[in-house]
Amino acid sequence: MKPIERLRALDAESKLLEHIGAALGWDQETYMPSGAIEERADQLAFIEALAHEKATAPEIGDLLGALGSTGENPGGPESLPTIDRAYLRVLRRKYDQATKLPVELVSELAKATSLSQAAWAEARKNDDFKAFEPYLTKMLGYQKRVAACLAPDAKPYDTLLDQYEEGATEAQIASVFGALRTDLVLLLDKIRGRPQIDDSFLRRRSPVDGQAKASEYLMKVLSYDTSRGRLDTTAHPFTTTLGGSDVRITTRYDEDFFPSSVFSTIHETGHALYELGIDPSPEYRRTSLAEASSMAVHESQSRLWENTVGRSLGFWLQHLPMLKQTLSPVLDGVGLEDFYRAVNRVEPSLVRVEADEVTYGLHVILRFELEGRLLSGDLAVSDLPAAWNEGMRRLLGVVPPDDASGCLQDIHWAIGLFGYFPSYALGNLYGAQWWDAMKAQGLDPKEAVELGDLGSILSWLRTNVHKPGAMYKPGELVERVTGSPLDPSHFVRYLNDKYAGVYGF
Ligand code: ZN
Repeated sequence: MKPIERLRALDAESKLLEHIGAALGWDQETYMPSGAIEERADQLAFIEALAHEKATAPEIGDLLGALGSTGENPGGPESLPTIDRAYLRVLRRKYDQATKLPVELVSELAKATSLSQAAWAEARKNDDFKAFEPYLTKMLGYQKRVAACLAPDAKPYDTLLDQYEEGATEAQIASVFGALRTDLVLLLDKIRGRPQIDDSFLRRRSPVDGQAKASEYLMKVLSYDTSRGRLDTTAHPFTTTLGGSDVRITTRYDEDFFPSSVFSTIHETGHALYELGIDPSPEYRRTSLAEASSMAVHESQSRLWENTVGRSLGFWLQHLPMLKQTLSPVLDGVGLEDFYRAVNRVEPSLVRVEADEVTYGLHVILRFELEGRLLSGDLAVSDLPAAWNEGMRRLLGVVPPDDASGCLQDIHWAIGLFGYFPSYALGNLYGAQWWDAMKAQGLDPKEAVELGDLGSILSWLRTNVHKPGAMYKPGELVERVTGSPLDPSHFVRYLNDKYAGVYGF
């Protein structure tokens, strides 16, 4: 067996374990009886330990070395085929990340994370930041240690960002977000000067049955192949990959706010389409190349379908009749224009996950600013609540009445995810840039949506974004596909055009 084939075979074994773990995790969130939780935790920990062992096998390091892949030149010699070089780069990165962390640190971290998560849940329930503070301090300390192990000479926050958005740095994201923040605040000011939209009919009681039918319909409309995936119900919607031909999504049903399931289903379908669209050829199948380019690129897919397509007038021109019929009589008497404006209502609020398209980015920018300062030591953990509230006032003009709806609202920092938040906002930016690239390349996506032709949008995304999987770093992908680096002006233009219509200015 050639070294590269042996490498793919070893990688495939890691992938098998990963997918088995995903199956167990999916079951835990959907159908597992509650009494099974302890055994399930043991099963998952066992699979995870096996997966770690596989991923850090010295043979992988030897093979990478034999093929010429090094830390400085992860893709190996230029004489290798492009696809092999991309594969070596991806695998070298994974292998180094997995082997650079001492085993004691990994196990200490796992324990500290589960304690911190529990403390966070309790602190949020009791609105008691002080109780959570020592855990957050610990998690921050661990993440600094992780960063120091991965790249001793780099800025810790840069190293952590790179885990989710390969190649990104704090300085680069700060410059993108700086421009974005100014434009979002300006747009929000304009919207605030206009009469608010009535969206009260979105809160009419709507039974789960009808909403579930609407979800099934929407998945079909978006070409989600249910012979390779399925929809179930969880408190927090997610997408999970159990294999190249098994990508599942979940949604949530709120009988007092049906848009929650409608847009969650579209969002998660967008994630699933990405995973299902990755090149199925043998060089990809069951290897680490069959993964997303980055978290932000993943989010660009869910948000493009949810917002750019799913909250457009053209989409509901096609599909509102179905929704009215399915949810009947909930939307009786509601016209297309009213529905469109209601699902695009903008209102600064306290909670990120409930935010609209315009204010969402500001929630993320706040978190980016704060976590950068926490990592650099510029902000003490004890000062976080005050800094949070000040930032909310400055960016969104609202101040949380308590920490539960302020700095304790998200789970991310509690479980050590520093550097993850920017992906959410970067996803919007990538999405808008893909959209403009479609136009530049002769496809009119807006018109396609109005005509009910979502297939041509999906096929453009498949060719340009889905199929290559992890072949390109996100920065390379956006340049290849659109001809320029990530540029927030696409998203800003999209928002300004759209909301000038929605709010009439
Ligand atoms: Zn998402």
